[in-house]
Amino acid sequence: MSNNPLKNHFRAPKLFTRLPSAGNFYADGVLELSATGEVEIYAMTSRDEVMMRNPDALLNGESVAQIITSCAPAIKRPRELLGADVDALMVAIQGATFGDEVSVETKCPECGNAVVGAGSVQASLATMKDVPADVKIQTPDDLTIELRPVTYETTIAAGVSNFQNTRSMQSIALIEDDLEKLKAFNESYMKMAELNFLVILDSIYSISGTDEDGEEFIVTDRDNIREYMENCASDIGKKVTEHVNILGEAGIDKTIKIQCQEEECGHIFETNLEFDPVNFSTAS
Ligand SMILES: [Zn+2]
Repeated sequence: MSNNPLKNHFRAPKLFTRLPSAGNFYADGVLELSATGEVEIYAMTSRDEVMMRNPDALLNGESVAQIITSCAPAIKRPRELLGADVDALMVAIQGATFGDEVSVETKCPECGNAVVGAGSVQASLATMKDVPADVKIQTPDDLTIELRPVTYETTIAAGVSNFQNTRSMQSIALIEDDLEKLKAFNESYMKMAELNFLVILDSIYSISGTDEDGEEFIVTDRDNIREYMENCASDIGKKVTEHVNILGEAGIDKTIKIQCQEEECGHIFETNLEFDPVNFSTAS
């Protein structure tokens, strides 16, 4: 590639964005932020756009990972990104590819009139909420559990699992034998419980404390953390869940305020911008 005479005609970065995580919570080598903590964003290539339309790849996160590699080269290992950062990157890539304006069509909740509005990619990126860097829980026996928002990998797993669960609930409703029905319901329930456990586990960044000899230790090994969570009191899991919800509020704001254009109404309300990759590829 370096000897290609066409090299100077390749895409140039279109915009820069910060990330909600500010690069915290990552192992070395996952990403390389600029001195100002930003990432260069390039427009999608036609190959990326084709990738975007493959529903299977979207479901397992593979195309999102490849698009991020192509359009945000500072990200070296996209599969290890936090969900909030993937959200911000995908919005920025949308802006770099299709322009700053994101149009939205919805119904006025007051009068039912069709309302057309527009949001701005730059405005969304500018107002993103940073992930709080020190969300910690103290256990009664003096361990400190430091939390982080869930990774994109887990977000994908949760999405797929929710989808399967809805499907299986629908088929369970059709089972006539009561015992078979109960069995199928239990299986489905166990799967959801396992998923909730994975989300909790994924939200733990480290567990630290002091050992018998007074030496401080910090555990980030995933297997060690899993083993601890399988063997600790249940109220610790509950506390983690509460804090995970606080962390979930970080990231880009996907809502905008729009006003109903119907003269006699003029109602102002909030609506969601569709930054969903599936939606923005079909809209173009
Ligand atoms: Zn209205």
